[in-house]
Amino acid sequence: MKSYVFPCEIEPDLRQVAAEEIPYMRTAAFGEMVKTIEQDLLDMAGCKGGRTIIFTASGTGAMDAAVTNYVSTKSKAMVIVGGSFGRRWSELCSYYGVNHVDYPVDFAKDIDYTKFEQTIIAEKPDVLLCHHHETSTGQLFDIARIGDICRRYGVSLVVDAVSSFLSDYINMDEMGIDLMITSSQKGLNISPGLSIVFISSRLKDYRWAHLSYYFDFETNLKNLTRGQTPYSPATTIFMQLRERLDRLKADGGVDANIRRVRQRAEIFRALCDKYGWKRPAENPSNCLTGFFVNANGDRMASELIKRGFYIMPGGTPDYFRVAHFGRQTVEELEALAAAIAEVEQVKF
Ligand SMILES: *Cc1c(COP(=O)(O)O)cnc(C)c1O
Repeated sequence: MKSYVFPCEIEPDLRQVAAEEIPYMRTAAFGEMVKTIEQDLLDMAGCKGGRTIIFTASGTGAMDAAVTNYVSTKSKAMVIVGGSFGRRWSELCSYYGVNHVDYPVDFAKDIDYTKFEQTIIAEKPDVLLCHHHETSTGQLFDIARIGDICRRYGVSLVVDAVSSFLSDYINMDEMGIDLMITSSQKGLNISPGLSIVFISSRLKDYRWAHLSYYFDFETNLKNLTRGQTPYSPATTIFMQLRERLDRLKADGGVDANIRRVRQRAEIFRALCDKYGWKRPAENPSNCLTGFFVNANGDRMASELIKRGFYIMPGGTPDYFRVAHFGRQTVEELEALAAAIAEVEQVKF
């Protein structure tokens, strides 16, 4: 199978890392490895002097942790809801009884930043929850602009960068991001199972709330000073993560990775235009291409599986998403587009 979902194709020898002998995590060697992972991740996120917590959980675990430990200490949250992931922030706030207002954004549209600023002035939140890339639609939001507005009105900024980390430029210190999250199966393109919270140095002595035993920041941070996690970590994925970070550094770092992802996206977007598939995102992330097919949308994903391709249905009728991590040659992207065009023509 050729995977255009998360994770995308992973190099076979990197996949193999998870099949090697499983290390015991309560050793100094494992702790040292985790500490080097933390340092590399902080460098890549532009989070100087900050901390990371790596949870054995999917990305939503990190979102949950951000709300229970931090957002719940605030008096009012505002949530940018531009799709199902924005809605998840809002649902988490409701679930934990956090006072919040939603700021809705239309499907695949950018934010009207002037109106957004006026709403911040009117609503007076003290924390904003948003996405860099709303993965359900393909739309990228301008975090630098959002960060400026937040700074101006003293609003703390929490960003879900799960699908944009390593595909679109983001820098926590520059953009004034207090908490940021990502997870292993997206930009890092390794097995699912780890989610990462980045904590800015500005929150160094923050008095976190204690609403979640497993995800408790204070307990996790204390253990992580020795490179340890309070509970059994997914050791094999930590090994893959160490290897992935080494490869990223050897291949030119974050900027080079972003360029590679963007190039694949550009190739596939030209193919969409050639076949007449509309791409609705006003300002698309490099992470994936979202597009409408012109026929047979109901059966597209299952027919493509028969042809050896995974792509993601988009939730909206006839809308699909093709992710751009991992190896994707021009020929492979052309073969994918040809297969999609072929399914469009099939009479069921
Ligand atoms: C994938 C993703 C998540 C996490 O989803 P999980 O299924 O919990 O891994 C969160 N936010 C965004 C924007 C995502 O793309």
